[in-house]
Amino acid sequence: MNELVISSAASLGAAVAAGQVSAEEVTRAHLDQITEAEPQVNAFLHVATEEALAQARAVDARRAAGEQLGPLAGVPLALKDVLTWTKAPTTCGSKMLEGWVPPYDATVTRRLVDAGIVIVGKTNLDEFAMGSSTENSAYGPTRNPWDTDRVPGGSGGGSAAALAAFEAPLAIGTDTGGSIRQPASVTGTVGIKPTYGGVSRYGLVAMASSLDQVGPCARSVLDAALLHEVIAGHDPMDSTSIDQPVPAVVDAARHADVSGMRIGVVRELGGAGYAPGVERRFREAVELLTRLGADVVEVSCPTFAHALPAYYLIQPSECSSNLARFDAMRYGLRVGDDGTTSAEEVMARTREAGFGDEVKRRIILGTYALSSGYYDAYYGSAQKVRTLIIEDFNRAWADCDVLVSPTTPTTAFRIGERTDDPVAMYQADLCTLPASLAGNAAASFPVGLAPEDGLPVGLQVMAPPLADDRLYRVGGALEAALAEEWGGPLWRQLPELEGVA
Ligand code: GLN
Repeated sequence: MNELVISSAASLGAAVAAGQVSAEEVTRAHLDQITEAEPQVNAFLHVATEEALAQARAVDARRAAGEQLGPLAGVPLALKDVLTWTKAPTTCGSKMLEGWVPPYDATVTRRLVDAGIVIVGKTNLDEFAMGSSTENSAYGPTRNPWDTDRVPGGSGGGSAAALAAFEAPLAIGTDTGGSIRQPASVTGTVGIKPTYGGVSRYGLVAMASSLDQVGPCARSVLDAALLHEVIAGHDPMDSTSIDQPVPAVVDAARHADVSGMRIGVVRELGGAGYAPGVERRFREAVELLTRLGADVVEVSCPTFAHALPAYYLIQPSECSSNLARFDAMRYGLRVGDDGTTSAEEVMARTREAGFGDEVKRRIILGTYALSSGYYDAYYGSAQKVRTLIIEDFNRAWADCDVLVSPTTPTTAFRIGERTDDPVAMYQADLCTLPASLAGNAAASFPVGLAPEDGLPVGLQVMAPPLADDRLYRVGGALEAALAEEWGGPLWRQLPELEGVA
């Protein structure tokens, strides 16, 4: 494999800035890797070859003109296909938006382009980001580079798989209930869900607005931190964006040290029923943190056990309302409009044809939960549970700087294994949902391979709102200690993809 595609984003950025390699060479190496790996992985819905090369040449021209480039200029990135970019279609993995080219760039997209980051394409996802396996995409599943019979997690499986298959060193994900963290966990990559409001959502196709958050994905902790600082920060175009300084995450990643840090192990997450390899690697990671000088205690957060039912009322309620905009009039698909059918009939036929089963399930669940007479019993109760979960977190923050758990109860499951069992699919989010409902910062870091199947296991770290830097302190310290133990980063242990030399 070309050395450039197994390099970190930080080193590629430094090499481009120093003139040791051109942004165009870096981009071509990744486009070649995409050509080789895609038949097996299917991480991308759209590869923007010409546009990526044009962006790379623009970076090279800026350097040639003497401009001082930022740390990630010239580095390729895979963008989840739920953020708008005027240079490619935004489909959200749905037939409903097939071929829809948005008229404006998301703020995140704009910031990436301004930083000289080269967007190489749009990545696959579960339709409208609903799912935990990327099997709900209308364009076929993405496969996990560690074992192509397995899922890469979801909804952001395309972004995570692109990293693990060396198709890009950076990716953007979105996390509503775990869609950055769970794919990171099962692909052995790093995924960060910043504090709710930490990254602008202007230009993000809304799924569940009280939960949706954009975040950085990478193979290394420093790379994620560098990307975090590019995309985060206040945006007047997003009324939920927080008007406060961005936490110093790059500094935290560079000087990662957990000595004296108070780390709480959540008793309710990580117990019975988890895969043996997940439990074992989790326990070992906690022991390692203790050896690195952290002060580890057990904490109880009893209401976390109710996060899953609460989420699966709140998320469907909000998405049933958000997805009402796909009415056959304004975007994408229109079915049955022969000039005589009523608007209502066209809308019904379009939604029937354009949405997949899971999206329809959520719309039906959400409409029911919000219907008059049931609103208090379902949506209202779920919101009360949400408040109790926030209170449990607040009690824990009195004693702990961060909380930890496994990211997800199992390693990557087989393609097709859970498609007929939505509740089994929802269980993948068991550990990630509390932080989603509370809006605090959370991340997943690779902590090894499960002995029983050789597949990656992730550690979830949760921090209080606006303390995103603490995630990077823990992640960076673990990454350094584990790399010493393994003789290199976890992804060095990736089995080679067939035909991808
Ligand atoms: N798996 C969860 C769901 O299906 C989370 C999705 C997400 O975070 N976008 O809703």
